[in-house]
Amino acid sequence: MHGVETASGSDAIAPDTTGLNFYRADPSLGDLLRLYLPAALFRHIEPHLDRLGALAGDHLDQCARLADRHPPVLHHRDRFGRDRQWIEYHPAYRELERVAYGEFGIHAMSHRSGILGWPQTYPSAAKHAFTYLFNQAEFGLGCPINVTDGAAMLLARFGDDALKGKYLDGLTQTDMARLTQGAQFMTEKEGGSDVGKLTTTAVPEGGNWRLSGEKWFCSNADASVVMLLARPEGAAAGTRGVGLFLMPRLLDDGSPNRYRIVRLKDKLGTRSMASGEIKLEGAFAYAVGRLDRGFVQMAEMVNWSRLSNGVKSTALMRRALHDAMTVAHGRMVFGKRIVDQPLARRQLLKIMLPVEQALSLCFMTADALDRAEAGSQEAAALVRILTPVLKFRSTRDARKVTGDALEMRGGAGYIEEFAPARLLRDAHLGSIWEGTSNIVALDAVIRAVGRHHAENALGADLHARLSESSTIPQGWRDRLRALIDRAVGFAQSVAADPACEADARRATTTLYHVASAVMLAWEGARIHEYRGDARRLLLSRLVLDHKLSRPDVFSVDRSGDEAMLAGMLLGDTPVPLAQAAVHLS
Ligand SMILES: Cc1cc2nc3c(=O)[nH]c(=O)nc-3n(C[C@H](O)[C@H](O)[C@H](O)COP(=O)(O)OP(=O)(O)OC[C@H]3O[C@@H](n4cnc5c(N)ncnc54)[C@H](O)[C@@H]3O)c2cc1C
Repeated sequence: MHGVETASGSDAIAPDTTGLNFYRADPSLGDLLRLYLPAALFRHIEPHLDRLGALAGDHLDQCARLADRHPPVLHHRDRFGRDRQWIEYHPAYRELERVAYGEFGIHAMSHRSGILGWPQTYPSAAKHAFTYLFNQAEFGLGCPINVTDGAAMLLARFGDDALKGKYLDGLTQTDMARLTQGAQFMTEKEGGSDVGKLTTTAVPEGGNWRLSGEKWFCSNADASVVMLLARPEGAAAGTRGVGLFLMPRLLDDGSPNRYRIVRLKDKLGTRSMASGEIKLEGAFAYAVGRLDRGFVQMAEMVNWSRLSNGVKSTALMRRALHDAMTVAHGRMVFGKRIVDQPLARRQLLKIMLPVEQALSLCFMTADALDRAEAGSQEAAALVRILTPVLKFRSTRDARKVTGDALEMRGGAGYIEEFAPARLLRDAHLGSIWEGTSNIVALDAVIRAVGRHHAENALGADLHARLSESSTIPQGWRDRLRALIDRAVGFAQSVAADPACEADARRATTTLYHVASAVMLAWEGARIHEYRGDARRLLLSRLVLDHKLSRPDVFSVDRSGDEAMLAGMLLGDTPVPLAQAAVHLS
């Protein structure tokens, strides 16, 4: 399941992942891309993924370490004493930007044809393969890439032709001299989750708007094109009265717009990237789309971003797993490699499982999004439920997985010279932005299930996958089918009764685990068909054991079953179906 054997060597201290190609070391990624992408597209992007995998495992990782150690600095004056604001970035951050925007064009893949020589735009499943590899090295810049992508999406969907003509080209440029990055400012002191409480006002002026107020969390603070929410004077209270605006950093004459970055946040993680507090002092802005639909439009973008957020958390987990496996293979303890100690093997399995679950659900969600954008109603319902389910669980799992992987490196894992400390700090952000865990779980259960009944689409999709996978042993399919019905039923019960709101997180988690168990089995069966390896199918067994059942805490397991599973899953040898089937009943 895991290809890490070749990281750079060292003496007494275990090696790290320097020099590892993150694409080649991750056979699951290639396997899933083969399943989800048209063959021609996969063939086209594979050399680019290979190149990005090599960069992420070395050059970009070194840049990320430097950029994290030298966070951006806000300046308010130039050396001649002129009031002029700018943010100074370390050259390593600029290099990360060059690779992400200029060389690979990740931010533009959904909008501009011709990126990396592909004649069309990319489906989400392909774009996020790049997101995933890049973020294994650098998570901080992952946010600006995503918000630039999101700003382009909002503009393309809701902006009028004049506004698109003015700003869309810059947002989707891969020429660094012409690129104008994006940002989205919603959160105010009064409310992040409760956006309807925002106090920024918009006053009409000559067909456009002047904005006043304060935004409390502004990532990519010096972006050129900001999408933000404000309440037009006299508009209704709550989210209904909120409009969406585009606020340029520079006005047409090149002078700065009337807003100020008051200070930058001193953050636990994503330290390479500038998040600021911004005062709007009559800033010039354009309305985007219908003013009374501002919140709904922004919510579309937030949902889009939540998928990216899930992918980025999966990237952090994969990177943490790479590090843990490298240590486990490279360090001797009590006369054996760590990877040969039974308790460490169990721990490695527990680190690996959430990574593979998350990867499956990232691709399932991205694929559904692509089909929804092509017009499928069923796929749209799937996206509605899968997005918060993925965002909720993968971002929470990233906190634990990065922490457990850090511990595999022992004391050195806690030291900032090695990547795990940075991964752990970064991982704590995923579950906060784009909606905290509670907010996202409530979205999944109260809205996606309670209001839109999207769980039915999920149940139907999962059952259909089992029906088409005759390779999966019948007994295993029956167990999975029963779990689908129970998870859907549980979510419906929680959604139907306001007294059960406190169970929203549990219901969301259960949907995630059941969906991932089915997806791992379905993908595993298909991978077995083309390269005779049923290991992914075996992972669905681990989901049932570790995530969907409660063992008797006093029972002793002498079956040796899990040790056998660890032997198959931690090695590199393909497992034939007949061998896997013994463990699936
Ligand atoms: C590094 C960083 C960068 C950010 N960048 C941006 C950005 O670029 N643009 C932007 O707009 N925002 C940004 N944010 C803000 C982020 O999206 C918000 O902090 C987040 O949405 C939470 O809002 P809040 O801080 O107001 O917390 P609150 O909304 O006050 O939440 C506090 C707690 O209350 C809980 N809670 C709230 N409502 C409920 C409920 N109904 N039921 C149960 N629990 C509830 C939450 O889960 C949370 O645990 C950023 C945040 C960080 C940390």
